Amino acid sequence: MKAGIVGLPNVGKSTLFNCLSNAKAQSANFPFCTIEPNIGVVNVPDSRLKKLGELVNPQRILPATVEIVDIAGLVKGASKGEGLGNQFLGNIRETDAILHVLRCFQDDNIVHVDGSIDPIRDKETIDMELQLKDLETVDKKLEKVKRAAKTGNKEAQKEEAALLKIKAGLEQGRSVRSIELSEDDRKEFIKPLQFITDKPVMYVCNVDENSATTGNDFVEKVKAAVKDENAEVLVLAVGTEADIAELEDFEERQMFLQDIGLDEPGSAKLIRGAYTLLDLQTYFTAGEKEVRAWTIPVGASAPQAAGVIHTDFEKGFIRAEVIGYDTYVEHGSEAKVKEAGKMRVEGKEYIVKDGDVMHFRFNV
Ligand code: GDP
Repeated sequence: MKAGIVGLPNVGKSTLFNCLSNAKAQSANFPFCTIEPNIGVVNVPDSRLKKLGELVNPQRILPATVEIVDIAGLVKGASKGEGLGNQFLGNIRETDAILHVLRCFQDDNIVHVDGSIDPIRDKETIDMELQLKDLETVDKKLEKVKRAAKTGNKEAQKEEAALLKIKAGLEQGRSVRSIELSEDDRKEFIKPLQFITDKPVMYVCNVDENSATTGNDFVEKVKAAVKDENAEVLVLAVGTEADIAELEDFEERQMFLQDIGLDEPGSAKLIRGAYTLLDLQTYFTAGEKEVRAWTIPVGASAPQAAGVIHTDFEKGFIRAEVIGYDTYVEHGSEAKVKEAGKMRVEGKEYIVKDGDVMHFRFNV
């Protein structure tokens, strides 16, 4: 899974990126890596994985990961090539979700590009740039589809109608995700175009330390403004979280978090939010070599879950041996679960449950 961070300059994007991808903030035996300066991989915190690791004692433990891309350089006019924005807009297209950072803190030392603190205005500025980019996409596609529609091609005519609805909505300043369209049209014509404003979004309200648990008036305004969007709103004191993430010692980090009234770091909250937003869940594989967490959509079948490991696993899927997480922990090992007759054998139709420990049998 890949998520892109967007927002105006000086709202705290890089600080959030650094805080998420800070190696020290990750549990000691879980490595973090930076692929490129603006791309980081964040481990998905999961206490169940740690527990399974203790029981199996494998050579390595691999958490599920989320790739975070810091999309810098978005300013008014970015879609028209202002600043570096246009180049970065391309990077968002490849992401599964958008983290939209909104400045909800006052600090006279940190200049706001538009002179005052107003997260709603900021959100609209960014939305407009993203919508303009999507407008380019829809115009390009329309050009082609129109030609086909003129020849009397029924399918092309249907597609043209759907695209025109999207175009009209974008021109009114709406995001693709909130433009009404039939499910079928959406799936057939709109999804494949990967519109930026069709991606699920989570708003990260960046607040000062004192508002970390309570939020503030800015946050309330954001919540009211996005209540009709199917979005998550997260309140984070990004600057403070980044300072805490710098600390070497785990205990010390916990202590500082508790001081500001938090029981876990923002990265954990953010990732949980992203899982909810994207309807994701986790299953595990557990062997002597490695114990590993995998991310799948809620509702995925056993072959689809196997396909996350390797496409061949999905194609050649025969059956899955499944142990529920609680059963695994209760008995303490795979062998003991088997002895107790608690291991299940499931077929192609099985819908995987969050926390399942799975072993796949497949043909190659
Ligand atoms: P970006 O341009 O959106 O990437 O913004 P940065 O992350 O570089 O942050 C801009 C400035 O704001 C930096 O000096 C940060 O230290 C500061 N900053 C970020 N988050 C906070 C915050 O929550 N509170 C305060 N007071 N300053 C912050």
